[in-house]
Amino acid sequence: MVAQAVHPMVAQARTFADEVLRPQAGRFDSEAAVPREVLAQMAELGFLGARLPPEYGGSGLDALDYGELTVAIGKGCPSTRAILTVHTSLVGETLARLGDAEQKRHYLPLLARGEKLACFALTEPEIGSDASSVRTHYQAVAGGFLLNGRKRWITYGAIADLFLVMASCDGQMSAFLVERGTPGLTTRPLHGLMASRGAHLAEIDLDQVLVPQSALVGRLGAGFSFVANTALFYGRYSIAWAGVSLAEAALEEMVGYARKREQFGKKLRQHQLVQAMLTDAVAGVQVGRALCEKVGRAIDAAADEAVNEVNVAKYVTSRLGVQITSDAVQLLGANGISEEYPVARLYREAKVLEIIEGSTQIQQMLISDYGVRRYRVLPPKREVARAARG
Ligand SMILES: Cc1cc2nc3c(=O)[nH]c(=O)nc-3n(C[C@H](O)[C@H](O)[C@H](O)COP(=O)(O)OP(=O)(O)OC[C@H]3O[C@@H](n4cnc5c(N)ncnc54)[C@H](O)[C@@H]3O)c2cc1C
Repeated sequence: MVAQAVHPMVAQARTFADEVLRPQAGRFDSEAAVPREVLAQMAELGFLGARLPPEYGGSGLDALDYGELTVAIGKGCPSTRAILTVHTSLVGETLARLGDAEQKRHYLPLLARGEKLACFALTEPEIGSDASSVRTHYQAVAGGFLLNGRKRWITYGAIADLFLVMASCDGQMSAFLVERGTPGLTTRPLHGLMASRGAHLAEIDLDQVLVPQSALVGRLGAGFSFVANTALFYGRYSIAWAGVSLAEAALEEMVGYARKREQFGKKLRQHQLVQAMLTDAVAGVQVGRALCEKVGRAIDAAADEAVNEVNVAKYVTSRLGVQITSDAVQLLGANGISEEYPVARLYREAKVLEIIEGSTQIQQMLISDYGVRRYRVLPPKREVARAARG
């Protein structure tokens, strides 16, 4: 087998995950905070600007290498991986694609260096899956826009410096960059969560928040079709790989345990029903990886199919993540539910991936629509010609 060259940043991320994240991920979870020093270290290593263009201080990783980076960090600590999803993918990549020249010149180097942490604020207390119906309101006023509303479940919102906020006016959604410190913007951390505990989730209040005209991202009224959909595309790609990271981390735990633990006078790995769980996990990880790599290659080739294929990859790997982490808990028996082993935490984290970036049910709606177009059998050409002749 030919060993594939690993991008130096991916190799660094694997070392960082092994040395810094994996030993502390349980503590970040129980203390409900990924420490700022860890994020600063990630910024120092260039991870936060991994996907941003080099001319703005980013590392310009291609989509496949960025996927591997996401897996490395996600296997180390899912709450830490979440900063890549929101800061680098949802906001950074979106600004790199849709921001105007001044927004890119000003913000991208700050994001690449991690001097400003960014988050993506779409969801509201009353509006989740039906994202085009957000109630946060904007009004054009002299000198800019006035924003009013409330956002909820915003990953890294409690400590972010920059908020990409989706707001609506007369049914038209627009996207705005809001800086922390702008009068009227307040954040409140969310506690008592099953997972993503370290990822600084927050509720955000916008009370008469005045932003300048230059805060508008993209055209006025193009916030959903253009900005939110672009951001969600990048976010889904990140979450698809996050599913692989959890599945792979769980599989490694399963293998380690099954090779060591003995029952009925033989290793667990020698029992056929345990072998069935291992088989499903191995196959699942490989299927998930193959789908993500396919999307990564499509993104790198700027192929249109990436838009639909990313939904398939996110849908499949988030479900695989739940199945494989659940099997990992099963295989470890009572130890599976103990915080002494990571599998219980991996299981909790996996469930989140079925909810965010378009839930499993939303993906089913999108993928079935795509499927009935993609797999429609057209009549043979002769039949078409005959039909045309009448
Ligand atoms: C850990 C975490 C982090 C998050 N981070 C962010 C973030 O950074 N930024 C952000 O903006 N949001 C974030 N969210 C919010 C997330 O995007 C929403 O939770 C998600 O869109 C679902 O919305 P909801 O929770 O309001 O559920 P709802 O939309 O109320 O849905 C509830 C259930 O009904 C199902 N459902 C809804 N509509 C349909 C339908 N038409 N057909 C069939 N089933 C349907 C859903 O699949 C779900 O199972 C985060 C959420 C979590 C849990």
